[in-house]
Amino acid sequence: MAASLMNGGGLAREIVSRTAARAAELEASTGVKPCLATVIVGDDPASVTYVRMKENRARQAGISSRHIGLPGTLTTGELVTVISELSADPEVHGILLQHPVPPQIDERSAFEAIAPGKDVDGVTMHSFAAAAFGTPGFASCTPGAIMRLLEAYGADPAGRHAVVLGRSPILGKPLGMLLLGRDATVTYCHSKTRELPAIVRTADLVVAAVGRPEFIRGDWIKPGAVVVDAGYNPGNVGDVAFAEAEARASLLTPVPGGVGPMTIAVLLEQTVDAAIAAACSAAE
Ligand code: NAP
Repeated sequence: MAASLMNGGGLAREIVSRTAARAAELEASTGVKPCLATVIVGDDPASVTYVRMKENRARQAGISSRHIGLPGTLTTGELVTVISELSADPEVHGILLQHPVPPQIDERSAFEAIAPGKDVDGVTMHSFAAAAFGTPGFASCTPGAIMRLLEAYGADPAGRHAVVLGRSPILGKPLGMLLLGRDATVTYCHSKTRELPAIVRTADLVVAAVGRPEFIRGDWIKPGAVVVDAGYNPGNVGDVAFAEAEARASLLTPVPGGVGPMTIAVLLEQTVDAAIAAACSAAE
């Protein structure tokens, strides 16, 4: 039987609509309009497109954007200064540093200049620790999006063997922590993992976050497993061979229309959360 699809587009629209209502309510009651600062270094076309898309969606949700476009020759110190100023600016509620940044920049130092209360993209060590310890904090957006999809489709990770392919600090690694926090038994796989197909065959839940088109084949998937494809490769292709996986999985995310729109929805939701928290602490 073909897998049921997890409709990230539809769920994202619901989240964005609730987020827009909360943003409007905040503005009506306090005069504060949530503001997301988007920082982009250089002019990588894919990054420019992503940032523009996020800014458009933010506007639709009643969130204003402050666009900061910086030259590709910037140094780490200069970028840290810009981000530190945004961290201290009371009119900015969330900060998104579009990545990857140019190679001369130490990305980690730049991320760490984001104040934890404004880290609505969930990229700082503070946010990672919050995911790992289960304490309050912003989720890294894509892992947060994946958890919301699983919840919406009743795919409880508790007691299940979850195999996460990829261990990047913004995706695979924090996702594994969130799954562990929901009582999954988690295995991380990466480029040095041996016998990868055999490990994936033991998974009740497979999350692909590798960045290689159609890398995970259908015959790696245990019949009835839940498969989440976070990959996004040129030509709208995921990391999972979709048609093959559809014939084996019970639940599957499409690409596009699965994890992608949910990631932006979580970013917007967390920006409004940050604005509400700032307004509450200003009123105290
Ligand atoms: P990344 O930083 O390049 O990390 C890729 C991970 O995959 C690394 O951990 C790497 O292992 C592992 N890997 C690479 N080749 C492998 C192989 N042959 N076998 C097993 N593991 C392998 O990428 P990322 O930023 O996490 O993104 C991953 C994918 O998700 C990309 O397609 C990206 O476009 C997509 N993405 C989507 C969204 C969204 O909103 N939908 C957001 C972010 C990313 P090592 O650690 O050993 O190098």
